[in-house]
Amino acid sequence: MKRDSNVVFAVLTFLLPAFLLPTWVFAQGEDYSTRAAEIVAEMTLEEKVKLLSGADIWQTKAVERLGVPSIWMADGPHGLRRAPAGDNWGFPSQPATCFPTASALAASWDTALLYEVGQAIGREAQAQDVQIVLGPGVNLKRSPLGGRNFEYFSEDPLLTGQLAAAYINGVQSEGVGTSLKHFAANNQETQRFVVDARVDERSLRELYLKSFEIAVRESQPWTVMAAYNRLNGIYATQHAWLLSEILRDEWGFDGYVVSDWGAVVDPVAAINAGMDLRMPTLNPMDDALVLAKIKGAATDAEAIDTTAIDAAARNLLRVILRADALNRENETFDEDTHHALARKAAGRSVVLLENNGILPLQDVKRLTVIGAFAKEPRYQGAGSSRVTPTRLENAWDELSRRAEGQFEISWAAGYESEEIDDALLQEARQKASEADVALLFVGLPPRFEEEGRDREHMDLPPSHNALVQAVVAAQPQTVVVLSNGSAVALPWADQVAAVVEGWLGGQAGGEAVVDVLFGDVNPSGRLAETFARNLEQTPAFLNFPGDGRVVTYGENIFVGYRYYDTVGVRPHYPFGYGLSYTTFEYSDLKLTTNEIDTNEINDDGTLTATMKIRNSGDRAGAEVVQLYVADLESSAPRPAKELKAFARVDLEPGEEKEVSFSVDASDLGFFSPRQGWIVEPGEHELIVGASSRDLRLREFFTVRATRYIPPGFDRFTTLKEWNDHPRGKAMVAPMLQMIFASLGAGEDAESARATVLNLPIFKLVTFSGGMFTEQMIENMVRQINSPE
Ligand code: BGC
Repeated sequence: MKRDSNVVFAVLTFLLPAFLLPTWVFAQGEDYSTRAAEIVAEMTLEEKVKLLSGADIWQTKAVERLGVPSIWMADGPHGLRRAPAGDNWGFPSQPATCFPTASALAASWDTALLYEVGQAIGREAQAQDVQIVLGPGVNLKRSPLGGRNFEYFSEDPLLTGQLAAAYINGVQSEGVGTSLKHFAANNQETQRFVVDARVDERSLRELYLKSFEIAVRESQPWTVMAAYNRLNGIYATQHAWLLSEILRDEWGFDGYVVSDWGAVVDPVAAINAGMDLRMPTLNPMDDALVLAKIKGAATDAEAIDTTAIDAAARNLLRVILRADALNRENETFDEDTHHALARKAAGRSVVLLENNGILPLQDVKRLTVIGAFAKEPRYQGAGSSRVTPTRLENAWDELSRRAEGQFEISWAAGYESEEIDDALLQEARQKASEADVALLFVGLPPRFEEEGRDREHMDLPPSHNALVQAVVAAQPQTVVVLSNGSAVALPWADQVAAVVEGWLGGQAGGEAVVDVLFGDVNPSGRLAETFARNLEQTPAFLNFPGDGRVVTYGENIFVGYRYYDTVGVRPHYPFGYGLSYTTFEYSDLKLTTNEIDTNEINDDGTLTATMKIRNSGDRAGAEVVQLYVADLESSAPRPAKELKAFARVDLEPGEEKEVSFSVDASDLGFFSPRQGWIVEPGEHELIVGASSRDLRLREFFTVRATRYIPPGFDRFTTLKEWNDHPRGKAMVAPMLQMIFASLGAGEDAESARATVLNLPIFKLVTFSGGMFTEQMIENMVRQINSPE
């Protein structure tokens, strides 16, 4: 009997979900290519051309004759900014939950949280009839001055890419698409519509494209947004290498490419390069121009390829059909539940930068709260991402609620503008000296962080810095809470009792910060971007923001901690840094590989690292365990180490967990413009740390070559390199011996030998007195590059 009912139950649970699941769940996996191709085959040229530009500011054009609906796109990324109508820019937009901005969310290092936030935004998009959310932004923080840094995640491509993928998977699980932006090298706002970012291919591949690549491969965003700027001389919206070769052919992107709003300069060049949808439609002449080029271009270069038009229409239709199939009528969402999620997200993002033990606050009798931000919070940045929140909580109200019947609370504004106000400083000093703890809210005013403008420096305004100095002189028990979307200089940090980085924490940020101050939430945020001591320390200092039209990424691959850790510059707070109210012990790091002995891995294999992490304090908390790898024997310059995996681990007091990471050897290489990705054989170090500077465990491992081919030799390869290579040596050693013998002995001969070894081989034609000809050099090069 019992067994029978179990069987019935099992059958039911197997079948039921299939009945209960809405049709959009099935539609999710469907392939829309066939239908899209059929529709394109039925469309006239004019219809196709028209489809490739928007109907208004936010919508695509419908093709009623063929039953193709229009879809709606809305910003993004940390909440929905849905304009009330299609021909309206959306300031203000319809209310939606305002989550913490990307730089805050990134500090959580919490992919599960990003998925949850994405899901909530997806649900709100369904409720507001939005089919594509314009985000996330995965441009790297090249300089702390980047005006949109608050909208971006990190200085590291792996962290950025994985967080973005989690967010995208969350949104798209709700049947709503995303737009991965701004593709690519969109790292500044100065001259943002025209600036030419000059970036070498290695830096692009290892950093600036990598964050996009990870997100595309791990989450297949429905759309990718092409940026305003130029990349190496070509507008991103007209960049065939970027949009077609890399994005589609190499990474397998199958959605549509949409231009950033107004980014297309030449619509014909854009379509030919693989730009599918031009947004918005501000110039109705564009479609006519495209049609004219198809029909009567004067030269081949001016002509538009009609196969490109068909491909773009198909790309667009696949997404439109999918969005239409997954569209949910009458969707609603619960504002309170989403507000609670915004509070949880903001709490997990808070980074505790300093603490002399004053936090979490206990037994406070008289608390003074100073700083206008406590009542008028800065909770998001300005520009296209500005959300109209469903409600807005501030820290002062939350503190007042907690104070009731528990402790006295007082208030002082501290500042009104950026100018120092002596009367306000005096009032703040007075209040601080009368209390036992001063809670000071400072940060960056709205004007300092907005789309369209880079910052000029990384300082807080003078009025905020002066306030900190004044208050701490009157009250050593001063806790500073920061509101800012990107790294700032904190010259007074070691003079105050605690510093709490609250970021731009969204509509519930005020409450979340108080949760942390009182210990209801144990801070587990870790910096996703280095905080330098000053601007001069930062890697792009000499090259940001360029000369107005051109910006050269002169620091190359040495961005963020890759720079600080390699050159040995000690920043104020390193990448990955953040304090907790508890302590963690790291132990038992072990490496295993799936093919050879421990600590040896084939260059196409996978390495597994396991370690133990224990909460050795008396409070529950979460630690962000970071795994870095250093290539100890690289033939190319490499960063001291690079992040290869991470995990946020929740632990009860005394609890220990085993954490396991897996790293593919293929992800350990560097990019050579001549040869592509190279994983070199040799010794590597695996380091587990609590930040890029707080390294707790290490192990060495060796990569063994199965696929490695030494860098291709050519006429520019030096004699030393030939001599170091077994086959090369056989070719040059007798000749070198002759030359060295002729040089004799002694110090001069020694330095002459070094000079000879440094010669590129083709220079032998010049220096060998006729012994070598160009033809001989060519033969040698061919011989060394031919298979053995
Ligand atoms: C921004 C994009 C945004 C778009 C639509 C542009 O100015 O760069 O990030 O999605 O406007 O508002």
